[in-house]
Amino acid sequence: MLRTLKTRFQQKYRTMTYPGGPAPELPARFAGRPVLRDDACNADCGACMTVCPTNAIALARERSSVTLDTGRCLFCRACEKACPQGLIRFTRDYSSASPTREGLVIGGGVDHTIQARNEPAAKFFVRSLKLRQVSAGGCNACEADCNVLGTPAWDMGRFGIQFVASPRHADGLLITGPVTVNMRLALEKTYAAVPDPKIVIAVGACAVSGGPFIGHAEQHNGAVSVVPVDLFIPGCPPHPLSILDGILKLLERI
Ligand code: SF4
Ligand code: SF4
Repeated sequence: MLRTLKTRFQQKYRTMTYPGGPAPELPARFAGRPVLRDDACNADCGACMTVCPTNAIALARERSSVTLDTGRCLFCRACEKACPQGLIRFTRDYSSASPTREGLVIGGGVDHTIQARNEPAAKFFVRSLKLRQVSAGGCNACEADCNVLGTPAWDMGRFGIQFVASPRHADGLLITGPVTVNMRLALEKTYAAVPDPKIVIAVGACAVSGGPFIGHAEQHNGAVSVVPVDLFIPGCPPHPLSILDGILKLLERI
């Protein structure tokens, strides 16, 4: 006890003030939500589409602009470098989650405002949200960034959000990975074991769309092919700030 008090005295209070205060400083290499300019797009160019490893970029209807599906995007920035006109730019905006899959597609003259709110989730889970994490075949980087949220600096427990061991103690699932064929049954059983009402959060490009494994025969291109999803958080992996921001918006806490 005395050692604990001494350590606290030495280390002081380290939990960040966000969302009550400013967001923590993001690393210089952080790539957030992209913005697309279509004013000088040459539809015959296609340089951005050629370099994209996940076919996240498509020509919009009129073939005069491109759309970028952040749910497929790996945030590698290859398209940003490839565009000769400099029309694709990755911003520092960490807020990228959406309750709909369509909400993750930007550009093409459509202004999709990121709006993660979910009334039932806010009603039932605003003060206490217990999540069972299901790793459905990803590389574990998404899980690592979810784990970060439990550390003293992020401390998502202060919002009543915690990971629990049993789906029967959970209010919902947080799924990572593209849902491999081998993990499908486990995911279905885990989902069924969570009592109603429940929510599902898909974290990372894999869980949203299949990510770098999209189209492979041994996976299902994301969680939505197996269970209904209430919140999509893009990224490969998403920054912990993006994950926390998405969940807090879902709960209408910010
Ligand atoms: S940043 Fe995203 S959209 Fe651009 S090339 Fe990489 S994966 Fe494709
Ligand atoms: S989205 Fe990227 S970081 Fe997350 S599990 Fe898939 S490959 Fe790994």
